[in-house]
Amino acid sequence: MRISMVSEHASPLAALGGVDAGGQNVHVAELSLALARRGHDVTVYTRRDDPDLPARVRTDPGLEVVHIDAGPARAVAKDLLLPYMGALADGIVADWGQDVPDIVHGHFWMSGLAALDAARRAGHAGRSVRVVQTFHALGTVKRRHQGVEDTSPPERISLEAMVGRSADHVVATCSDEVFELAAMGVPGRRVSIAPCGVDLDLFTPLGPVEERNRTHRIVSVGRLVPRKGMDLVIRALRALTELGRNDVELVIVGGAGNSAGLQDDPEAQRLMTLAADLDVADRVVLRGQVSRVKLPAVLRSADAVVCAPWYEPFGIVPLEAMACGVPVVAAAVGGLVDTVVDGTTGLHAPPQDAPAIAAAIAALLADPARARELGENGYQRVLARYSWDRIAADTETAYLAALGTTAPRPSTAQQRTARPLESTGGRAL
Ligand code: UDP
Repeated sequence: MRISMVSEHASPLAALGGVDAGGQNVHVAELSLALARRGHDVTVYTRRDDPDLPARVRTDPGLEVVHIDAGPARAVAKDLLLPYMGALADGIVADWGQDVPDIVHGHFWMSGLAALDAARRAGHAGRSVRVVQTFHALGTVKRRHQGVEDTSPPERISLEAMVGRSADHVVATCSDEVFELAAMGVPGRRVSIAPCGVDLDLFTPLGPVEERNRTHRIVSVGRLVPRKGMDLVIRALRALTELGRNDVELVIVGGAGNSAGLQDDPEAQRLMTLAADLDVADRVVLRGQVSRVKLPAVLRSADAVVCAPWYEPFGIVPLEAMACGVPVVAAAVGGLVDTVVDGTTGLHAPPQDAPAIAAAIAALLADPARARELGENGYQRVLARYSWDRIAADTETAYLAALGTTAPRPSTAQQRTARPLESTGGRAL
């Protein structure tokens, strides 16, 4: 198949850990690559956020990233990008020309708008392009949890429902999302589940292990935004101290730059102030952004990886921890309920419950044999279920459902003519 991915704010080429660069970037990058490995011809359209980016970057055989001029050529918070979706659709339609893809796959609600717009315009010209949508996060859920703090455009909720109802097929990433989609009026017959995956070559149980500064270590990884619940993990560290455990350090990975750069990050400052107030600052390390290649050594150094979000559309970090053979303590929310099996690959805690997180960590520290067993089970689980090749196969099935067929349309891959390519500008996938 010829597949166009649209990911307006989350480029597969971006560095991770900043406020708007996390799981969606990983998902689009790895899914596109795995689909290309399966022989599909994949183009990812993303917004140009830097004037020096080349127009097109061929990252791998069958995979190209195209930067579209849509809004200012600089970083713009994703909550401000809605006005530029028309320009994004213009760029996509212009790039397609006469040679439209079989599938346009929108990632996040705004990309869904651009994908539907581009497909509609192709339709007016007599060319059929089917639209598949993955939301990654839902405005309804965000509003429920963030209330007045929610900075999404007010139109998000109604436009998102429109995208869900108009797409030929919607790919949910977890079972919880299926219920949310039903409540939005998306017919169940047009919804299937394809979770996120994990890079099983990079995240492995064996390999370098970062040295600890204390006897025990817990690690949390995520964008430094309040809803990731890093403050709850700091509170859990305090609660552990009260349980007689002051031999545990907490390493927090994430943020827009290195640890020095976190001086200007208000969320990092809030977390360090909290750690000082709770008298655990000497055992909390804010590491800032850690590159993909260095992350496995940090995960392997943990007795447990703790994921304590208020809500979580999917959550790739637990898969990365499991792939490294490390047990996960997870808030029982969203995708974490599917990925982390309570008592088998880790332990669940109720949402926003620092004492329960502390109790789960304490239980693992008290029983290293059990912790090892949970880690090993986690590794087996990701091997069996969460390779990107498997996720790509599931996604391909969703594409075939959108096409109303069980086999790809013939010969479209051969119709594509090669285009000249520019250099990658030093960025790596
Ligand atoms: N990540 C990273 N370095 C960082 C912070 C995050 O590589 O400094 C990665 C993390 O390993 C995971 C992704 O960013 O692959 C975050 O995805 P997740 O689904 O857990 O959360 P989201 O960002 O989608 O809310």
